[in-house]
Amino acid sequence: MAIVKAAATHQLYGELKAIVGQERVNDNQVIISAYSKDACHLEAERPGIVVMPKSVEEVQDIVRLCARSKTPIVPAGGRNGICGACLPRVPNAVMLDMVKMDRIIKIDEDVMTVTVEAGLRWAELIHRLNEKGYKLGFRGPYGGNVGTVGGSTSINSIGYAASKYGPSTEGVVSFEVVLASGNVVQTGTGWNPDAQLFGRYSTFFDMTGIFSGDHGTLGVKTKVTLKIYPKADYYTYGDFGFKTLEDATEAFLEVQKRGFTEELNLLVDRQSTETFFPGFLGKHPEINAMFASIVQETDQQLANRKMELIREIALKHAGKDLGNFASQMHWSEMFNLVQPLYNNGFWLNTCHLRPIPTIPIVMKRIWAIFKKHKLLENDIKYIASCLGSERAYATGWITIFIPTKEKMEYGLKVWNEMLDAIMDTGACPYWMGLLWEDRVLKKVRKPFIDTYWKIKQALDPDNIFAPEVFRGGP
Ligand SMILES: Cc1cc2nc3c(=O)[nH]c(=O)nc-3n(C[C@H](O)[C@H](O)[C@H](O)COP(=O)(O)OP(=O)(O)OC[C@H]3O[C@@H](n4cnc5c(N)ncnc54)[C@H](O)[C@@H]3O)c2cc1C
Repeated sequence: MAIVKAAATHQLYGELKAIVGQERVNDNQVIISAYSKDACHLEAERPGIVVMPKSVEEVQDIVRLCARSKTPIVPAGGRNGICGACLPRVPNAVMLDMVKMDRIIKIDEDVMTVTVEAGLRWAELIHRLNEKGYKLGFRGPYGGNVGTVGGSTSINSIGYAASKYGPSTEGVVSFEVVLASGNVVQTGTGWNPDAQLFGRYSTFFDMTGIFSGDHGTLGVKTKVTLKIYPKADYYTYGDFGFKTLEDATEAFLEVQKRGFTEELNLLVDRQSTETFFPGFLGKHPEINAMFASIVQETDQQLANRKMELIREIALKHAGKDLGNFASQMHWSEMFNLVQPLYNNGFWLNTCHLRPIPTIPIVMKRIWAIFKKHKLLENDIKYIASCLGSERAYATGWITIFIPTKEKMEYGLKVWNEMLDAIMDTGACPYWMGLLWEDRVLKKVRKPFIDTYWKIKQALDPDNIFAPEVFRGGP
């Protein structure tokens, strides 16, 4: 029974109710209001109605209905994004809440893949695979208690274990996608109805890639097939401190290039370490930057040896062994690690990708902005951290925490300068959303975005999926 009764005023209410039943469709403003935000401060249009499909057939029927009536449709996962990606840009949209599609369809041990419905949350998937003796490569964004597999792969999320395995989309073998026509396409080896879902690249071009990071503009992902690996039970952890960010960055780059770690995280200055792990550097007054390294292996000796090599690299770059508290905490608190940071206030984040050697360059610009605006004197804390990603780039996570509503205007001024500095120093955001859209669209090469629009027009001629996304913020 629906707790909040639908208002039944949206023009598609009756037809949507006929598809999914009364309990999974709602246009009451109480519900709509809850669906009008994700986990950041940015705002756009409210959805006109929310519908929760439970099967691919229901998604097909909803999409066909929206196509027929030319009604915009916006897919949403956990709505845990921190860039406003899942918020509709036009009024009256049908928001497709995918979280009831959360089953594990198949663990295919022959070819080491798992196929899940797109609304499954990362934390649950990891837990269920662990029980069967497997692990994922990329293990979900730091918000993976709430974020879904479909949401993350639709916006190129980066997070746990990206240091070894790359972003969320790197682990995808195949998508099942409902297109604007209502037809279902299966990418990767799924083009062949007689084949198992074992490979992403086969026979044709990489169709999986077209839907990776599409921000829900090209179709609705209903299933995702991901690579899996044997569970690895042996860990070693190591924290290393450096007097200068330059030394820390050189060591960080070398460790990341050699691919030793499951996860490698750099905290660029004392203030960032203090915000994350209060008091941790108390006994090390000379240390300004540090990295936390996590090795996970199927063999204890292998794990030990890798940590010895990481230590050698750190010491070669004038590093100091700080033990392993920060790295153990970082890994064991997976998905709960960053939530307590909300105690410092609301996040204004700047998530992006960049080459590792550019970290000191961007930090000089950022520290100058903080100094100019007297950030710490204004009681605004920050964290600047970098996650080693794939072979040798970094995910920059430079976030300021706004403690009170009154400080928001001031914080936004600082944050906008930070976003400019980050973009000017060769960054590429991993997701875009309202957060980055204006800056990205100002910069993008024309043939690139024109090609995107040709694909969009071919797949979604009436522009029903997430209209206005990639065209500029409100
Ligand atoms: C505490 C915290 C920590 C976080 N840490 C990280 C982090 O480390 N890394 C990171 O990348 N992000 C992080 N985030 C942001 C967020 O968790 C991730 O971006 C996550 O991947 C979003 O998934 P979601 O299911 O909530 O997607 P949503 O926010 O619901 O949607 C994201 C986008 O995907 C589209 N979409 C959703 N489902 C589908 C589908 N089935 N088919 C097609 N399109 C779809 C939406 O239209 C939207 O464009 C964090 C957030 C919080 C609050």
